[in-house]
Amino acid sequence: MKFAEHVSELVGNTPLVRLNTVTAGLSATILAKVEYLNPGGSIKDRIALRIIEAAEASGELQPGGTIVEPTSGNTGVGLAMVAQRKGYRCVFVCPDKVSQDKRDVLAAYGAEVVVTPTSVAPDDPSSYYSVSDRIVRETPGAWKPDQYSNLNGPASHYATTGPEIWADTDGKVTHLVAGVGTGGTITGTGRFLREVSADRALEDGGEVRIVGADPEGSVYSGGTGRPYLVEGVGEDFWPKAYDPAVPHEIIAVSDADSFAMTRRLALEEALLVGGSCGMAVEAALRLARRLEDEDPEAARRAVIVVLLPDSGRGYMSKIFSDTWMRSYGFLDAGQGVTAGDVLR
Ligand code: PMP
Repeated sequence: MKFAEHVSELVGNTPLVRLNTVTAGLSATILAKVEYLNPGGSIKDRIALRIIEAAEASGELQPGGTIVEPTSGNTGVGLAMVAQRKGYRCVFVCPDKVSQDKRDVLAAYGAEVVVTPTSVAPDDPSSYYSVSDRIVRETPGAWKPDQYSNLNGPASHYATTGPEIWADTDGKVTHLVAGVGTGGTITGTGRFLREVSADRALEDGGEVRIVGADPEGSVYSGGTGRPYLVEGVGEDFWPKAYDPAVPHEIIAVSDADSFAMTRRLALEEALLVGGSCGMAVEAALRLARRLEDEDPEAARRAVIVVLLPDSGRGYMSKIFSDTWMRSYGFLDAGQGVTAGDVLR
């Protein structure tokens, strides 16, 4: 019989799937790594186990302790899944731009959810960073994983995401495109892929190029911080989990372009994914178009892997709602996909 002892053992080893339609006119091979197939539904499952076990080993997290973390949802699910197995309590702090759907998911796993205003500075006492620090101070046995500064985050991607991509492409990957939030994904995955390909011959693709995707307005692409609406990516400060020496370049994508591509991925590729996935795929297509213009021969040989961090199920009342999209001017009158009753 083949079975796992606990759902948290099923994290990782997600598949690659070729994008076929949104890539029309491009000769590069563009492969999406489908991270919503992790058991908690996102790429953040990968960091949870490693971060918790490191804290147990160092004594920071004691039996019966409480995990307190500012999280936009996905990290919370990963932590809650591991905490469930190990008997820890979880308190998560989310900014109010995070959808109700996502907060309800955390509560369903048994976590307590505290909501804070999005549009305040990180050092404001009501910011989600400040509130989570206060809860840690006031709760006995509390421990804050702090995915923004915890180097076990990038280490988990160095140990899993990077090697999976290298193995599944038979060492042929030439470019990695990933959204940047805490920066852990691109730092760990990118570092592994750069190291493993450092001595690869130029005709075999040379060193893998690491390309970050970032919301317009975020610091990674030269902005000052918020506001942007795409969730889980972009920052208004420089986290320790991000090593700016790893990416070769950062491509900035607007909310409008991110959300338009997110809808196309569902309609044209049957990939129902979140807004940071649309953002990353838009960046991958811009990269592929540029390769095509600069060097069509290199474009034909390019194998671009783009990470799709989570599922679209958490965004049905936002990106996949015509009303919400129209309220921000992302959809023209007459366009739309929201289901309605059609009377004939
Ligand atoms: N997309 C989504 C939906 C996320 O939740 C995250 C994690 N914040 C990311 C992308 C970016 O990952 P990382 O924090 O590793 O940069």
